[in-house]
Amino acid sequence: MKVIIVGTGYVGLVTGACLSDVGLNVICVDTDHKKIENLKSGILPIYEPGLKNIVDRNFQSGRLSFSTSLKDVIADSDFAFIAVGTPTGEDGSADLKYVLSVASEIGKYASNYLVTVTKSTVPVGTAEKVENIIDNQLKSRNINFSIDVASNPEFLKEGDAIDDFMKPDRIVCGVKSEKAKNLLSKLYQPFVLNGHPLIFMDIPSAEMTKYAANAMLATKISFINDIANLCELTGADVSNVRKGIGSDSRIGKSFIYPGIGYGGSCFPKDVKALVKSGEEFGHKLRILEAVEDVNNEQKSILVKKIIQEFGEDLANRSFTFWGLSFKPETDDMREAPSIVIANELLRRGAKVIAYDPIAIAEAKTVFGDRIAYSNSAYTALKNSDALLLITEWREFRSPDWSKVKSGLKNSIIFDGRNIYDRSDLKSKGFTYYGIGTK
Ligand code: NAD
Repeated sequence: MKVIIVGTGYVGLVTGACLSDVGLNVICVDTDHKKIENLKSGILPIYEPGLKNIVDRNFQSGRLSFSTSLKDVIADSDFAFIAVGTPTGEDGSADLKYVLSVASEIGKYASNYLVTVTKSTVPVGTAEKVENIIDNQLKSRNINFSIDVASNPEFLKEGDAIDDFMKPDRIVCGVKSEKAKNLLSKLYQPFVLNGHPLIFMDIPSAEMTKYAANAMLATKISFINDIANLCELTGADVSNVRKGIGSDSRIGKSFIYPGIGYGGSCFPKDVKALVKSGEEFGHKLRILEAVEDVNNEQKSILVKKIIQEFGEDLANRSFTFWGLSFKPETDDMREAPSIVIANELLRRGAKVIAYDPIAIAEAKTVFGDRIAYSNSAYTALKNSDALLLITEWREFRSPDWSKVKSGLKNSIIFDGRNIYDRSDLKSKGFTYYGIGTK
């Protein structure tokens, strides 16, 4: 089978690499010439554990290749996956301009029947728009073959993307024809050998499934953050509450860790897009509006605690960030809480110096020289008023506290991820601020 992936970002590159790794012939297409040149020279545009090995192996074997031109490579394909970005538009809805422009190209250049698969996260009705655009192009070319459109939302997590793709909990495919269903079954057969389901459904339901999944996860995060903030006021400890509720199998242990709010390229934009979609259909999604509000406030929670400790005026104060990316094991800075926290501290006159094991280069594109960067966790502490744990990279879990103490001006820790033990740090002479803990 020959597979074209259009859009070679997190999702497109992982999808292309993993499909080629099970023996398929894959061509990843992107309009970003620099990205494609780099990929051809073995330079990946993102940090994702395990990805480079798979890309190298399959590029060398000839099963995986890269191109900037869909027109040049689409002939004889069985699938064209659309994996381009769907950023937040001006009104909060998903901006579909990249998806629809790829659809138009497919209609213009396809030379045989194939299945066009929307893998980008898109609102209900998008596959239909894609289908109409392709059909109109085919008609204007007097073409006598058809093209099926299917929806196959992606559920991978950055940082764990390879495992998620290779051993998915489930694969969801929205289809309209038996032919597309059979082809997708064949394509994904190697990925469901673990017994996890390949779920076929109608296209609108598949499109909605992706938004509903992300909205549910974002809801869990905002819920526990809201409870954590109430715990602080009432004298309860959210770490105990989390264990107490998480052992109920109806609730589950995952995604109920309090912190400094969700970020990344998906939850914020997908919650916004779903709320907008609700508005368009005259249905107010009140829960999700609250989820977003709670999250926006939570991103400032450490700044509130800093003001509690140091007062409103932070001029001449300096703060060290451990971690910048929106979560560990990725260099993705999109909507990272670190951006809100740093901007608020800078606005109040403070200085920020940051260390991150992977995301410094990416962070420089966000902050430029407005913050300082260090290539060592401990050097970054020098003369700082406090340490802020922003991203829970593994290397921050068990620091040498004597080195932390001797580096900092004041022995104060703001733990944005509740990974440290308050009583242990207190016994070592630190002042500790967590999220909803006591
Ligand atoms: P990304 O921004 O990393 O990559 C998108 C790529 O598409 C870019 O390289 C861009 O140059 C390319 N592109 C844009 N227009 C193009 C065109 N006309 N032809 C060829 N290439 C084009 O995006 P991403 O994070 O991979 O996300 C892609 C989609 O997948 C989004 O809808 C996103 O919501 C969804 N998604 C993302 C994740 C994730 O963890 N990042 C997970 C699941 C789903």
